[in-house]
Amino acid sequence: MRRTRIVCTIGPAASSSRMLEKLIRAGMDVARLNMAHGTREEHLAVITRLRRLSRRRNRPVGILLDLAGVKLRISEVQGSGVVLEKGAQVLLRQGRRPATSRTLFIPYSGLTKDLKEGHRVLIDDGRVELVVTGRKGNALTTRVCEGGTLTSHKGVNLPDTDISTRSFTPKDRADLAFGIRHGVDAFGVSFVSTAEDMTVVKKALKKAGYEAPLVAKIERPSALENIGEIMDVADGIMVARGDLGVEVSAAAVPIIQKDLILSAARKNRFVITATQMLESMTHSSVPTRAEAADVANAVLDGSDAVMLSAESSVGMYPVKAVQTMDLIVRETEGNGKSFRTDRPVPEPVSGGRPGYGGIAMAEATARAAREVGARCIVAFTRSGYTPGLLSRFRPAVPIIAFTSNRQAVDRMKFSWGVVPLFMEHLDSADTMIAEVKKAEVEKALIKGRHARRGDTVVITASLPMAEWGKTKFLKVHKIP
Ligand code: PEP
Repeated sequence: MRRTRIVCTIGPAASSSRMLEKLIRAGMDVARLNMAHGTREEHLAVITRLRRLSRRRNRPVGILLDLAGVKLRISEVQGSGVVLEKGAQVLLRQGRRPATSRTLFIPYSGLTKDLKEGHRVLIDDGRVELVVTGRKGNALTTRVCEGGTLTSHKGVNLPDTDISTRSFTPKDRADLAFGIRHGVDAFGVSFVSTAEDMTVVKKALKKAGYEAPLVAKIERPSALENIGEIMDVADGIMVARGDLGVEVSAAAVPIIQKDLILSAARKNRFVITATQMLESMTHSSVPTRAEAADVANAVLDGSDAVMLSAESSVGMYPVKAVQTMDLIVRETEGNGKSFRTDRPVPEPVSGGRPGYGGIAMAEATARAAREVGARCIVAFTRSGYTPGLLSRFRPAVPIIAFTSNRQAVDRMKFSWGVVPLFMEHLDSADTMIAEVKKAEVEKALIKGRHARRGDTVVITASLPMAEWGKTKFLKVHKIP
């Protein structure tokens, strides 16, 4: 069984029922809808197809709706592009008028207020670099440090600038409401700089009475500076290496990735490592050796999930990319090195708030499973929190999570090493411990080949399940 999750970005290459079914069969655990592209109607069609296929095949799939945030882009460029020569002077203006080789337009109201002399303006993934040299009327003067040809709507990164526009835009608010309406399992928040960028989304969720994990996309230098407080609010993070690589330099990304994964482990947050993992598979049916090593290293670093972007959304080989990723992860995990017991474990106190004993119980459960040679860990859960916590301790055996909450089944597809199983009437301690339920659970374990007669399993839960954080329960149980 593969433990590390595979997240696939869904785009035109993967959105048909036929392709989605193939991706599910190939091992997609989570489908990511990138709201920076496509219409809500297109995303809704994908959500509907995914839910139908996943129920029909009895293969849960989590849905991550990724809010676009403030992605700055240059305006339209006429013809085959404008050429910016190294050393040339170029004006930057606020607006949407077509660009020329003398003047570029960016629809960003804070442009002349936020950018200062010496700040870099990186365009098209940093291929073109300008530096601000001064101000002329209501425009900025810049010098071209790295020249190139620009076509329409290329992305702009401002690594030295404090962007005054809030990252949670009116479009994000409408997309969040859309996601809530259609029951998505988690939300991604783009271009997070501070904890406040997460809090504002959390409040909007709370106001709507909706529970879903929030994933902070770490892609700005300011997010690295404020990572502790961001993780206090976020449920998980994404190492968004695309924009991050532009803003801090590609050379810095590998060590940042390792540091983020370690800090997230301490803070009890899950990590998705993302972008360009199998980039060449956008056009080729085989990965480069360097890409295979990148996926394997992300697993060894302790990622809970690895992600495909262009490979699955617009690439020529989406299914092959998932199969390749699945194979690399299995090969890496099969080596046993990914179940390191020396990785940092969650701190019992997070953000100044005392814990409630759950971490100690999860650790005890994982240790007990090792000590008694358990075939698997059985966790009863309402929200998926207990199995998620167990997965932080990277037990060598699968975590079989029983829940009577259908949404938790899909949500647990974000958790490393967890097999979510739906079972009716698991809402009280009595039904769970009752002999009849026990027999049903044993039957489900045997039927799913998670355990055999005579095996020992370790069972854990928070009781009563409907009230988070109550009495903890741990039982070593032999299947008769
Ligand atoms: C990234 O920049 O790596 C990333 C995941 O963001 P997006 O794909 O949303 O641009």
